[in-house]
Amino acid sequence: MDLNNLNYIVIGAGFFGAVIAERIASKLRERVLVVDRKSHIGGNSWSIADPATGIECHCYGSHIFHTSDPQVWNYINSFTEFNSYRHRVLTNYRGRIYQMPVNLATICDFYGRTMTPFEAAMLLSDEAKSSGIIDAKNLEEKAIYQIGRPLYDAFIRDYTLKQWKTDPKQLPADIITRLPVRYSYKSDYFDDPWQGIPLNGYHHLFERILDHPDVEVMLGLDFFEIREQIPPECTVIYTGPIDRFFGYKYGRLGWRTLDFEKEVCNVRDYQGTAVMNYADDTVPFTRVHEFRHFHDERPYPEDRTVISREYSRTCNLNDEPYYPVNAIQDREILALYRADADMATNVIFGGRLGSYRYLDMDKSIASALEIFNTRIRKES
Ligand code: UDP
Repeated sequence: MDLNNLNYIVIGAGFFGAVIAERIASKLRERVLVVDRKSHIGGNSWSIADPATGIECHCYGSHIFHTSDPQVWNYINSFTEFNSYRHRVLTNYRGRIYQMPVNLATICDFYGRTMTPFEAAMLLSDEAKSSGIIDAKNLEEKAIYQIGRPLYDAFIRDYTLKQWKTDPKQLPADIITRLPVRYSYKSDYFDDPWQGIPLNGYHHLFERILDHPDVEVMLGLDFFEIREQIPPECTVIYTGPIDRFFGYKYGRLGWRTLDFEKEVCNVRDYQGTAVMNYADDTVPFTRVHEFRHFHDERPYPEDRTVISREYSRTCNLNDEPYYPVNAIQDREILALYRADADMATNVIFGGRLGSYRYLDMDKSIASALEIFNTRIRKES
């Protein structure tokens, strides 16, 4: 594609970038170039069949699509069907298995006695009162306020430290509000009415979104290598890390990256569920994914399964960022980058990395649809 005659370039082929590119091509009938330094589309949501077993593996950790937004659900269903998978997570604490997020089963098992919903709510409310927290300002206070210190110490404190390597007092409270607390035996991880895994996998979904004659995709290409060649009138939709865009001039924002240790095991079922968390600090990984459980509808091998142990660590310059830490010191730097981003002409920042927000897939899509309508379609 000739960069000189280009009106739109999208940096990053994850959900935000792919949806914006699709909208530009189908609604504005404009040509759009999508570049990604990865060798595949789909960003960190990518999944592909394991060559040895045929089991669809989520290469960057389990991705379960879930949303309460009818616009997002309608949009994504025009590219794929979903299976009926409902996400349920268990957590291993000191060798015993508990339901996660915290529900009535978790509370009864942990305290070793049967309680009614009312009794469990009273118990946790007393725990919260005894902590003296009134206005929870960070992850630790919020969690203790919701479930009391004993449950926090068991299931949240060490897992969070492994995941973020940051004192939970320095982390934003909204990380923990992702998890509901339930005084019932409902064990779904998400409350959203629409959930599932794309029937033919995320690779197929992304191929469908980007399958348009006016969308060209260039993989294995770093935007910063071609940046100087982009004409000034071309609109850049940038979904890479916001601090990298500005050459880290205010310093580096905190990011977490993940390492995965994949293993093909010679058993049909390794752990009996898709995701098992490990709450103890003595276990170095945060969770184990077993991908066959995402597709009960598929005829997978009876004698083998694929698992992946997930390890979290600080993200260095050449690592793949996954999570914005958003600790107190990050928020000051972020404000400076965001002010520059607001002033940048012809550049739109989006997605988890470009906005430095802990967005789920559906929120990235919602944000792409909104930005397309309010900033791109409006200006065209
Ligand atoms: N969390 C925890 N224990 C768990 C599960 C989650 O302490 O067993 C905390 C942890 O801080 C985590 C946050 O809740 O980062 C959000 O969890 P979620 O499962 O939404 O994280 P993701 O799947 O996006 O990594």
